[in-house]
Amino acid sequence: MSLNGRTVAVFALGGTIATTASPATGGVVPALSGKELLGGVPQLSALGVTLRIHDFRRVASASLTLSDLDALHAAIAAELDAETVDGVVVVQGTDTIEETAFHLDLLHQGDTPVVFTGAMRNPTLPGPDEPANLYAAVIAAAGPWLRDAGCVVVLGDEVHAARTVQKSHTLDTSAFTSPGAGPLGLVADRKVRLHQRLPHRTVLPGNTEAQTNARTVRVALHTVTVGDDGTVLDLPDGRCEGLVVAALGGGHVPE
Ligand code: ASP
Repeated sequence: MSLNGRTVAVFALGGTIATTASPATGGVVPALSGKELLGGVPQLSALGVTLRIHDFRRVASASLTLSDLDALHAAIAAELDAETVDGVVVVQGTDTIEETAFHLDLLHQGDTPVVFTGAMRNPTLPGPDEPANLYAAVIAAAGPWLRDAGCVVVLGDEVHAARTVQKSHTLDTSAFTSPGAGPLGLVADRKVRLHQRLPHRTVLPGNTEAQTNARTVRVALHTVTVGDDGTVLDLPDGRCEGLVVAALGGGHVPE
């Protein structure tokens, strides 16, 4: 199917995919704008897809906040209200892509797909995965295949549902997996080949006062380990309104 004439809104948030070498640190820092990122993939223009590019944030994804994610949701909703857009691409760091995609999946209304992508290799390394991931993400967002899928993650040409995807390796270029579920499909030959029916989504009602208030509530997370004597559980006492205990196996803790 031709994607010529379709429109995709792209929101750039930074991450490894947007980095350039930083002589000052000897490492890399997020520096590329959305236009520079997409301009580095000349094959995109042959698709005939109109790209509406928004520079939303330019940070490593560990620095994104829940307020950033709520603002992103609002910006996507405003774009979809104001413009005729077939799909949305969010470009960000991979470290928190599973969290941001899931957060947005709970809030995103309507049937326009929102496709998250990033890159495992920074653009200064040999064989960066950035161009292929951007290309696949735009195809996935522009076409009709993922309507009603809500938020998905596309990396390494695989399409994963936001509710199942995990970054399951720190460095591997095929780090994204959906344990117990598998990918929804594959981007190949300029289309999405779906392997499964789209999963059922749970969407929260629109922005309520309760949701706004929830942002001011602090909840701690404790991961139980072997030899855990429970001392750490006292630390959040008086500082947090809630505590989530990630226990062992099916919810087991040491006696
Ligand atoms: N540090 C990066 C981030 O912003 C890692 C990445 O993008 O892959 O999440």
